Amino acid sequence: MARITLNKSNFFHNLDIIKAKTQSVERIALVLKDNAYGHGLREMAKLASEYGITRAVVRSNTEAETIEEFFEYILVLADIPKGPSKKIRYTINDIECIKEFPKGTLVELKVNTAMNRNGVSIKELNDSIELIKVSGLVLEAIFTHHSCADELNGNYELQKANFLKIKQNAPKGLHFHSCNSAALFREEAFNEDMVRVGIAAYGCLEIASKFKQYTFKPILSLYAKKISSRQISKGDCVGYGATFVSQSDSVVSNYDFGYGDGFLRANSNIYKTPEGIEIAGRISMDNSSFLSDKKEILIFNDAREVALCAKTISYEVLTSLKENIKREII
Ligand SMILES: *Cc1c(COP(=O)(O)O)cnc(C)c1O
Repeated sequence: MARITLNKSNFFHNLDIIKAKTQSVERIALVLKDNAYGHGLREMAKLASEYGITRAVVRSNTEAETIEEFFEYILVLADIPKGPSKKIRYTINDIECIKEFPKGTLVELKVNTAMNRNGVSIKELNDSIELIKVSGLVLEAIFTHHSCADELNGNYELQKANFLKIKQNAPKGLHFHSCNSAALFREEAFNEDMVRVGIAAYGCLEIASKFKQYTFKPILSLYAKKISSRQISKGDCVGYGATFVSQSDSVVSNYDFGYGDGFLRANSNIYKTPEGIEIAGRISMDNSSFLSDKKEILIFNDAREVALCAKTISYEVLTSLKENIKREII
């Protein structure tokens, strides 16, 4: 079976950089949604807790329950609470969902500051706060999410200005957070109560070169095992569609990592491993062929390189990795 290794010292190195920026470990909320960006939810939760992280952000109740033992605070981004919990906070993404939440639930109100994806509008803000109160929910924080923290088109500044106004006019005693990884690291100084950090912790942050660059280290490596090998001659084809035609006599082997496991098919015919081993032909569901006879090959150790090749983002490369691949902490 293909296998994943998770490099603990790289993870802690990334967390050190994040902690230096937030000035305290308590302000770091590690985003663990989508199986911790494909790294493995329980594995990453346990390591984060060992480092001293007390806050996590997930998508669903199921994820929150899976890691509850490791954290003091968990923010659920998009699910309906089953009942009040001391640890788990729920996001209000729309004024309509306030009525659906059970009394006593700890909630955080998401405000739409111009991304136009989730959150109540700025106009609805005061009514939402009032409705939360009369519905018996406990409002702890107001937050927003940036659409362009990693872009230079002016939207980041617009959303930031909108959120600043919200902070200035909000009732006293609430907490505020707006930064994901890119927003945290494009700012010179961080001055909010919490950061929701994902991709930087996993070592794959990319921000424009005009901002200070940091030496994040990817923590996930993926290895695939050889299923079979064969000698091919010049002119022989490999794989579905016969799209690879060998230019010389060579050895080709088939490895147990395909698009069904999360190897994006867009890498067919063009991908090269970090050791320079070339892919041969199309990626199939459970297999991919490489010009190699090694028993096991390192497919990647930096999701950004796979993303570049497949014309996508590291987030997609990582979250595509299936849960049943064995994860091992090294
Ligand atoms: C996924 C997510 C994050 C983390 O974003 P990164 O770019 O990985 O740091 C933060 N906040 C919200 C609301 C998210 O959905």
